[in-house]
Amino acid sequence: MLLVQTLRSVAEAAALYAGYCARLIGQVLRSAENTARAILRKLARRPFQNDANIAAPSPVQDAAVFINPKYCDSPVQISEQNNARGNRYSDVNSPALKISRPRPRITNWERGVLIGKGSFASVYKGYSNEDEIFFAAKGVSLTEPNHLPHLENEIAILKLLDDHEYIIQYYGTLNDGEMLYIFLELASHGTLEQAYKKCRFTESQVSDYTRQILQGLKYLHSCKVVHGDLNCANILVTESGRIKLADFGLSKRMEDHSYGFPSDICSLGCTVLEMSTGEYPQCNAKKVFSVELAIRSGRGIIVPRNLPCNLRDFINQCLQPDPKQRPTAAELLADHPFVKESSFHADS
Ligand code: ATP
Repeated sequence: MLLVQTLRSVAEAAALYAGYCARLIGQVLRSAENTARAILRKLARRPFQNDANIAAPSPVQDAAVFINPKYCDSPVQISEQNNARGNRYSDVNSPALKISRPRPRITNWERGVLIGKGSFASVYKGYSNEDEIFFAAKGVSLTEPNHLPHLENEIAILKLLDDHEYIIQYYGTLNDGEMLYIFLELASHGTLEQAYKKCRFTESQVSDYTRQILQGLKYLHSCKVVHGDLNCANILVTESGRIKLADFGLSKRMEDHSYGFPSDICSLGCTVLEMSTGEYPQCNAKKVFSVELAIRSGRGIIVPRNLPCNLRDFINQCLQPDPKQRPTAAELLADHPFVKESSFHADS
């Protein structure tokens, strides 16, 4: 009997020890994996960190980046600045504007606080335990069948697009049985609408932001995608002051290149007016269709006379009643002095 008890105790102790060893080995492996990932991430960034032109933003600069988007923190932004110096903005598919850093795979994550709520989705801060990064998790409850198509459309559009510097980056999708989520790059400064409500934009900020929006729109249109709901509430601002087009719930892929794109240009005109005056034109008719109808029927939007000449001309060109007369995003970016000046500001 005593022998049996002794043997049982020895067996239990051995099992405990084996469990402890397994946990220890697991921890060591996990930590080695994390270290390897961190080294890989650092290696991916190294050539750019050595770039003498780029100073890592100090906390004080960080406070300023919101006002001056020329501070940048990613390899792609650096390439884009270098290109701006040579005035080479013509190619939308230029590698300079494609994001080259690896897209995180989110499989092991934690949901944090609610950071935003739209008419369809709730947006939470997420944390990836593998990549140790924060991101945004935009989710819709599976019990809200009316809201799901909106998110599903957004997923389909984001999957069509490459990672681009001026489009919110897509990290993946998850259906956890309760919610359908899209994982997105976190834009920690919120929307342009929130930004101008906190502090009125200067003309040079409006010009810089407009140039960045145009870069995103030019890329989107080159992929035959119409945004369909462009306004300051759907444009996000990153920590480094970079603009990202977001919310593709109403977006559409157009087979016919001639239809749809001019209404995005009309919305761009309204967005620029919104940034300049602090309110969306015809606030009661925020939907793009109503604004477009008002413009086409001659009940045009009034562009205040006290706005600078180049800015007024930019808005008026976007809001031309005949959609065919409106310039394309590529034409505005290449030719209009209001945005050409901003590449000068961002460079100087
Ligand atoms: P809408 O009513 O315009 O259709 P929606 O339900 O599709 O909205 P969004 O506008 O995409 O939802 O998101 C709601 C809010 O969540 C945004 O206004 C913004 O404040 C926040 N948000 C969305 N995406 C992000 C992100 N990637 N990073 C940070 N905040 C975000």
